[in-house]
Amino acid sequence: MNIYGITFEELEKYFIEKNDKKFKATQVFDWVYRKRINNFDEMRNVSKDTINTMKEDFYFDKLEIIQRQEDVDVAKYLFKLKDGEKVEAVVMYHDYGTSICISTQVGCNMGCKFCESGRLKKVRNLETYEMVSQILMVEEDIEKRLSHIVLMGIGEPFDNYENVIKFIDIVNSDKGIAIGSRHITVSTCGIVPKIREFTNYDKQVNLAISLHAPNNEIRNSIMNINKAYPIEEIIKAIKDYIAKTNRRVTFEYIMLKGVNDSESCALELSKLLRGINCYVNLIPYNETSHIEYKKSSQDTIMKFYDILKKNNIGVTIRREFGSKVNAACGQLRSHYEEV
Ligand code: SAH
Repeated sequence: MNIYGITFEELEKYFIEKNDKKFKATQVFDWVYRKRINNFDEMRNVSKDTINTMKEDFYFDKLEIIQRQEDVDVAKYLFKLKDGEKVEAVVMYHDYGTSICISTQVGCNMGCKFCESGRLKKVRNLETYEMVSQILMVEEDIEKRLSHIVLMGIGEPFDNYENVIKFIDIVNSDKGIAIGSRHITVSTCGIVPKIREFTNYDKQVNLAISLHAPNNEIRNSIMNINKAYPIEEIIKAIKDYIAKTNRRVTFEYIMLKGVNDSESCALELSKLLRGINCYVNLIPYNETSHIEYKKSSQDTIMKFYDILKKNNIGVTIRREFGSKVNAACGQLRSHYEEV
């Protein structure tokens, strides 16, 4: 098994099963995630026997960076996986820290009409180690620690739930990379049963919902998933999530010209979200050459923003990173493949 795919708790269990000492897990995590060595022989405080046993069961292997593009406040990576598939990650430099947007699947099956990643369809889920690797390789490349992680790259995290949760456990573990749970955000297009499962996850990870429409009619026309889990079911699940976790939820709302950006949409959205502990993140749409949706004008976005504000809905407008370097939303992979 790849060493980057095992959680701290699983590693402790592994050592107990091998009649070894539980604390070895602390030592190994320290070497792997704090000192960042990439072979067993450098683990100087770990006994030879333990190292030999581990060598039989684990190996070190990361991904390959095949392309890197940069702008002032953004760096975009294209990774090649062992089977030749490719995924992307984007690093963004903010005044509050450095965040990374990672991929969770090769392609995506959710079929959102505006999305470049969905256009390419899901090939497979990413393994946990492939997600952890994105973090390690980028930190190595930028020679800096990341402070925030968003799971908003290629793929639907809740369509790869188990691996994603293991990934969060690993990067959040205070024995290793130790990125705080409040600095980790999972974004979903609204797979209701998984939102419900996530409600019982014991870490204080942020949840973002890609809502993108104030009613089922519009949402059905741009997001296939809405036919399985319509808006009222999402809202019900979110209310339960908030009641249980007491955490504020983010609703993402892409501004698509002439589709969901009218004043009446803003009013309808305000009504829908009234009284829910949430805020709306308005996202200027990143146009791609393959899809005909257009981005709303700055003026329209501001009007929409003002209406939400006036109706006491917390709202922000997402700063645009990386559109110059094809860094936006799945475009690097698709340009590379030329499909
Ligand atoms: N599948 C998850 C996470 C990946 S997509 C989800 O749907 O939330 C991350 C976010 O980027 C989603 O809100 C998605 O709707 C949005 N997105 C996709 N294509 C986009 C584009 N071209 N411009 C702006 N946002 C986009």
